[in-house]
Amino acid sequence: MTNIVTVDLEDWFHVCGVSALSREHWSRLPSRIDDTTRWLLDALDAAGIRATFFVLGWVAEHHPQLVTTVRDAGHEIGSHGHHHLRAYDVRPDEFAADLRTSVSALKAVGVTRVTSFRAPEWSINERSLWALGALTQEGFEMDASMAPVRLVGSPAFPRHPHVRQTPSGMITEVPPLVADRFGQVMPVGWGWGLRMSSPRRVLRSIEDMNRSGHPAVLAVHPWEFDIDPPRVRLPAALHFAHYFRLDGFRNRLQSILKEAMFGPLSSLAVPQPVA
Ligand SMILES: [Zn+2]
Repeated sequence: MTNIVTVDLEDWFHVCGVSALSREHWSRLPSRIDDTTRWLLDALDAAGIRATFFVLGWVAEHHPQLVTTVRDAGHEIGSHGHHHLRAYDVRPDEFAADLRTSVSALKAVGVTRVTSFRAPEWSINERSLWALGALTQEGFEMDASMAPVRLVGSPAFPRHPHVRQTPSGMITEVPPLVADRFGQVMPVGWGWGLRMSSPRRVLRSIEDMNRSGHPAVLAVHPWEFDIDPPRVRLPAALHFAHYFRLDGFRNRLQSILKEAMFGPLSSLAVPQPVA
């Protein structure tokens, strides 16, 4: 069973809802994305893995060479939007406009086809399901924005790839890996949940998922591999999501990548629509 590795290609300051890190400051903040992404590319290469990179359009505009390097290394390119907007914070027309701007920025650096999307901060949830229709309208075939956990998504969301019907067509939804731990649903495939878990624990969750007939989906960001990340004051939940246990994460991720089979989103068998 081939599992999936996804990367949200963004800089450390692409955080939603923090005024000190709002869009007008981005060009002045010290970028860290080149070194951290290059480390990740080497780690994927060492493990023989091709992944899917959800690239922020703004990053494609400001670091065109980096995006070309990612693509030339054989990875797939999807969209992470252009200005890192949460779907439920914007109107449908703003969402669609941002999506189109991101696709144009990706095409401008030579990406020929963009058919997969991940919303910033897992922001497609019950408040913003209309966004799936906007994606199919724009020709997207896969979305990976719905997290089956509380706070950002819902534990009621399916945990495996599935097809969703929208007014403008069908789209395959590819949720990230979760596991039941300590009486709650834990994001074992991304963020603090992935960083706090031992490689053995993560691999066991991947095996459990595979035994049930489904691939496990991991999600990482380049800034999680920064050994000395710039520190900014963030609200408590965001602080935890961004800074909790970065220490040693490079080694832990490498151990996981070595021990299971991984590929990009296109290696997914297309799931059948749920009747
Ligand atoms: Zn993001």
